[in-house]
Amino acid sequence: MLACIVSKLLAMNTEAIVIRIKTPTGDMDSSVDCPSLLNFNDLLVAIRDVMPEATVTAFEYEDEVGDRITVRSDEELKAMLSYYCNTMNEQRMNGLLPDPLLIYCFLSSSLKKSSAELKRILTNGQINAQDIHYQEQLGHGNGGTVYKAYHVHGKRVLAVKVIPLDITVELQKQIMSELEILYKCDSPYIITFFSAFFVENRISICTEFMDGGSLDVYKRIPEHVLGRIAVAVVKGLTYLWSLKILHRDVKPSNMLVNTRGRVKLCDFGVSTQLVNSIAKTYVGTNAYMAPERISGEQYGIHADVWSAGISFMELTCFFLPVLLLFQPLQLLQCIVDEDPPVLPVSQFSEKIIKRLCFSFIQDHPFIVQYNDGNAEVVSMWVCRCLEERRAQLAQGRM
Ligand code: ATP
Ligand code: MG
Repeated sequence: MLACIVSKLLAMNTEAIVIRIKTPTGDMDSSVDCPSLLNFNDLLVAIRDVMPEATVTAFEYEDEVGDRITVRSDEELKAMLSYYCNTMNEQRMNGLLPDPLLIYCFLSSSLKKSSAELKRILTNGQINAQDIHYQEQLGHGNGGTVYKAYHVHGKRVLAVKVIPLDITVELQKQIMSELEILYKCDSPYIITFFSAFFVENRISICTEFMDGGSLDVYKRIPEHVLGRIAVAVVKGLTYLWSLKILHRDVKPSNMLVNTRGRVKLCDFGVSTQLVNSIAKTYVGTNAYMAPERISGEQYGIHADVWSAGISFMELTCFFLPVLLLFQPLQLLQCIVDEDPPVLPVSQFSEKIIKRLCFSFIQDHPFIVQYNDGNAEVVSMWVCRCLEERRAQLAQGRM
């Protein structure tokens, strides 16, 4: 926990910031000279000064996608300040004057509307190529390359996936219309989609940036952390299924985490045309694919559940590299012919060993046990792993 707080504090800027307290009767700005010394109670006192008639015990701020995050303790205050200072630095680096830190002391319908309004503006295709400043490359998959980028108008960091596609304008239009449903997706367990556009023969898909990256690089995740991750994945999948969307590509690299402990799914197959166009250039084997898909049979929700189960097994015990020793065809044959894999009884709890199954997925004992909304557990673990990775990189450079 200490490492997590220290890393958050280190990321924090020590220069003065302006906090804007939003109240039903108007805004109140106050300057904080040394944000790292600010504590939760001092801020509550300042809020009560502004709103003496209200009993304020907590307040909220908005993250980069307009979701409200509640602050109830010193630790959550530090997370908010760290998030704000990073945002402020990004704005400065891009030649912009930093916005004040907005905090909300009540949940009125008008403020909810303004958050919905923000989402609507962001998701109305208002991002275009000229407004995006590309930063570093985040990764490269079968379909394309993902970059961290800054959207100058929206003043926010994005992840932009660029996929080269040699297709007709007609097909481009079809893909754009199939992607429309992404504007309607609104779940804390699904990556927020901002916009997509074609420039020449490349499609760029702009989504929320997750500063912890994807789970494929973590491995050997302790059971109590994996439990919270599994709950988020199950909720994300259940949400997609409720919209009649099958994910079709559930795997650790499509599960993203951030330092605030959020876990979100990305890269689900809403556009058949996009999936087909990418499939033409696809090389490699999908070790997470359910047997019925490999055999070419009809498949449904169960296939997503299978892939989620295999992903959780890999994340907890790191066994897939052994499977990858197989030749691609052998691997597919093995998935179809053999019994489903099981975790070794001696090393894991009874709850995680039970097989996931669609009809009871929400009631699975492992999911029930960790369905407590404790994002702090994931947050601390992500911060610690990032810290270790940074230290290893620094050592390698010495
Ligand atoms: P495949 O192409 O087989 O699906 P993949 O999922 O690894 O493989 P991409 O979807 O292109 O490939 O993603 C590449 C990498 O970019 C991911 O592994 C992840 O680390 C990073 N990434 C993708 N989206 C985001 C995001 N929204 N925020 C932060 N990192 C991201
Ligand atoms: Mg992916």
